[in-house]
Amino acid sequence: MPPPKTYHSSSLSPLSEREVLSGNLVADVCVIGGGLAGMTTALELARGGRDVIVLESAEVGFGASGRNGGFVGPAWSQRLDALIRKVGESQARRLYELSMEGVRIVSGNISDLAIPDLNLAKGKLSVARTPSRDAFLRRRDRLRNEFNQQVEVWDTDKVRTVLKTPRYFEALHYPDDFQINPLAYLRGLASEAERLGGRVFERSGAKRLDTGVGCTKVVTQSGTVAAKQVVVATGGYTARLIRKLYHSYVPISTYIMLTKARPDLIATAIETPFGVGDQRRAGDYYRLVNGGTRILWGGQITTRVSEPRRLAQMLLATMTETFPQLKGLEVDYAWSGIMAYARHLMPQIRQIEEGVWSCTAFGGHGINTTAIGGKVLAEAILQQSERWRLFTPFGFDWNGGPAGRVAVQSSYWWMQARDKFGESMARAADTGA
Ligand SMILES: Cc1cc2nc3c(=O)[nH]c(=O)nc-3n(C[C@H](O)[C@H](O)[C@H](O)COP(=O)(O)OP(=O)(O)OC[C@H]3O[C@@H](n4cnc5c(N)ncnc54)[C@H](O)[C@@H]3O)c2cc1C
Repeated sequence: MPPPKTYHSSSLSPLSEREVLSGNLVADVCVIGGGLAGMTTALELARGGRDVIVLESAEVGFGASGRNGGFVGPAWSQRLDALIRKVGESQARRLYELSMEGVRIVSGNISDLAIPDLNLAKGKLSVARTPSRDAFLRRRDRLRNEFNQQVEVWDTDKVRTVLKTPRYFEALHYPDDFQINPLAYLRGLASEAERLGGRVFERSGAKRLDTGVGCTKVVTQSGTVAAKQVVVATGGYTARLIRKLYHSYVPISTYIMLTKARPDLIATAIETPFGVGDQRRAGDYYRLVNGGTRILWGGQITTRVSEPRRLAQMLLATMTETFPQLKGLEVDYAWSGIMAYARHLMPQIRQIEEGVWSCTAFGGHGINTTAIGGKVLAEAILQQSERWRLFTPFGFDWNGGPAGRVAVQSSYWWMQARDKFGESMARAADTGA
């Protein structure tokens, strides 16, 4: 299947295709999956002097990593409070700090590798759709005091000056968050891994793993790689290569569109260079691109993995529900991507069996977390640290089969209904209706 036309790919120059694996090769480590998780792991291993081969079934960035919204900031898909309940205060704190380290790894790679065409933009507003002043003040204090994270609370008037909608109330402003073209970043990682001697093969999907003593053979259509260590980083595109992995995650689709250029119309709604996300579980997120002339708008989740026929109209409807003044804005193109969620909403960074590791299930918060996930997994293989053990509580819990998908979809609809009810009450109070 060819990759979709996305804003990210269309704003980069086309690359010449990489080779298909052929013949029988040997490497220290074979990484399966050419997304951010696989490529970060491969790069860290190449930096550590290991001979690495990456196998990608389509092309580098074909999956979520090449299609995502490009928002980079601390945190995991699972919320901090839920992490505290599961693993206790101290381990949850260490995990949150790792997520912050993930942001620093991305920034470090951006500056060290001088990656072109990143379209780096700084700052993010996390906006509330119901009055949230007290909750936001508590969150600000906690992030400042416990994690030394820069964050400010914006009051409703200030928010509505730059985001012209009565739907929004207060916002948290994260000045150190940033946005990038994720495909440009991923290609930068791949080039660096190759410069350090790593080999990347495209259209070379792993079909089977033959595990032997001290070595695993990864079998593709036209070749094999024999390696002491194998890392499976196949994200939401994980098929039945390893049963345990396949049955322990739910593929969740989510969507993005790019509008046509209408700077005057767009300025009637959005007048901030910051990325914006709303506080709902699967809320909208968007930012201005191309010098403020277009909107990149994402949102919605579903367990249905095929792309809806009227995707652009669906996203336009969510945008104009928040900004009715943008009716008439047209869509250039819209696309979907698949994320992997485990039931615990945390990544699966662990050993599947002797010499075979997983680095997957990063959910919807994957740029910073794949960076630190790949790093700690590389540290494990390089025998530099045991930090991967912090992820031991997040295992291969069964996804519940088809009933599990239905349950996920139903709970999303339930959350949507709950959000809508809360918002309608807030609007009534706001307008005195
Ligand atoms: C539309 C969308 C918007 C998002 N927005 C954001 C955002 O703004 N910020 C953020 O932090 N996160 C975001 N995310 C989440 C983030 O993109 C993901 O968590 C992250 O990219 C996952 O990376 P990955 O490497 O695990 O998976 P992927 O990028 O999906 O990579 C997996 C790769 O494995 C390959 N593969 C699968 N099976 C095989 C096989 N057998 N052999 C070889 N290769 C195989 C696939 O082709 C694919 O390229 C978003 C996700 C989507 C879909």
